[in-house]
Amino acid sequence: MSVLVHIPTPLRPFVEDQDGIVTEHGTIAEVLERLTNEYTKLRAHLMQPDGRLRNFVNVYVNDRDIRDLDGDETRVVDGDEISIVPSIAGGAAPADTALPELSHEELLRYSRHLILPEVGLEGQRRLKAARVVLIGTGGLGSPASLYLAAAGVGTLGLVDFDVVDATNLHRQILHGTAAVGDSKLDSAEARLKDLNPHVHIEAFDTRLTSENALEILRDFDVVLDGSDNFPTRYLVNDACAMLGKPNAYGSIFRFEGQASVFHARVGPCYRCLFREPPPPGLVPSCAEGGVLGVLPGIIGSIQALETIKLILGKGSTLIGRLILFDALKFTFRELKLHKDPDCPLCGEHPTVTELIDYEAFCGLGAEPAYHGPEVNATELATELKENPELVLIDVREPLEWEICRIDGATLIPLGHLPERLNELNGHKEIVTHCHKGVRSMQALEVLKAAGFTRVRSLAGGIEAWSTEVDPSVPRY
Ligand code: ZN
Repeated sequence: MSVLVHIPTPLRPFVEDQDGIVTEHGTIAEVLERLTNEYTKLRAHLMQPDGRLRNFVNVYVNDRDIRDLDGDETRVVDGDEISIVPSIAGGAAPADTALPELSHEELLRYSRHLILPEVGLEGQRRLKAARVVLIGTGGLGSPASLYLAAAGVGTLGLVDFDVVDATNLHRQILHGTAAVGDSKLDSAEARLKDLNPHVHIEAFDTRLTSENALEILRDFDVVLDGSDNFPTRYLVNDACAMLGKPNAYGSIFRFEGQASVFHARVGPCYRCLFREPPPPGLVPSCAEGGVLGVLPGIIGSIQALETIKLILGKGSTLIGRLILFDALKFTFRELKLHKDPDCPLCGEHPTVTELIDYEAFCGLGAEPAYHGPEVNATELATELKENPELVLIDVREPLEWEICRIDGATLIPLGHLPERLNELNGHKEIVTHCHKGVRSMQALEVLKAAGFTRVRSLAGGIEAWSTEVDPSVPRY
């Protein structure tokens, strides 16, 4: 008398709102037969008219897919747990009759989908019924949202709080030049509505936080993580696991990308792969390290593809697989991912049971690693005029030096500073500068350790110099 059948949210209305039902052992077929005899309304949602399981419903015994066991002849015994997982976990797994109809205009628009057996009329109606939320409308969210809208996903949730910046345009193809300075949400909504007026957009003008994540993500079927920072990645992962939602994951850096689908209910989560974030500053962001503009186009498209497969319940998704793409070498590598039994979130003894402070978890918000005296751009301009002895050291890379420089500065990249200290006169005032004021602070540490005392760093770097002192110095 002790086999537990977990009932997913969309099916609970048909079983008197129970989230689990205890039943007797037997084969899966016998268990489901008993269940659907007792709860007759459930039958139409689980079974085809011929009694076979609907193909968008998966059944797992203790986290193993019965298709990898003996199918519905798989036996369950006392203590086993059965999970019924519609292909859109947490979302609607409506019977065909409950799917929305397509208008003549939609039939025409999606005709190349409709003649694909794997999509067809039912699949297209399933896409129309689906609700997908994108975290971010930047590099990854741009291609992903464009393809999902074009494909006819009925509702797209967009979470963003940023404005379009000129440096976004080389990769964030959702936004145009005319939108620079506008809210990304407004820009995205206008473009997506133009692409496909049948798509309903739900805009969330906010940063995703531990306070709002569960509330926002709860009403969606699939979450597409297009974020660009570790706190948000862990937040999305944890919220998805707690809500039982699949997370179409992608990340990019320079020429390399990653993609997977994390779905803790049936497979590994992001924490199974990366239990802890790297220490702050170890992995540079795209703003610091650069990114090839077309790369998020490739990775974001993979995320859109996986999202559509999850909705259709077709093909093999990236659940349990991590794709590593190297654009320079043009290689795709695939790693098998396993659910970590010790995962603090989805393992056997979870310690993360509610959303936490992700900034703190990722070591951000703490005291900066480097301290030192600073000078602002306007003060520096005055001092340079009055004190010709003042030495200005540019610790950026040669590539950055080629883009722009401050007159009179000497280039000594941060990595070369220790071996080039002999070029500096310790009796003179020294000011270090970089792009935005982080590396120049590290340079101060090097100089102070070597005995230099009259050293300061330009706050805000050459970026501040350009905006506050000399606009003829280009920003980048
Ligand atoms: Zn996990």
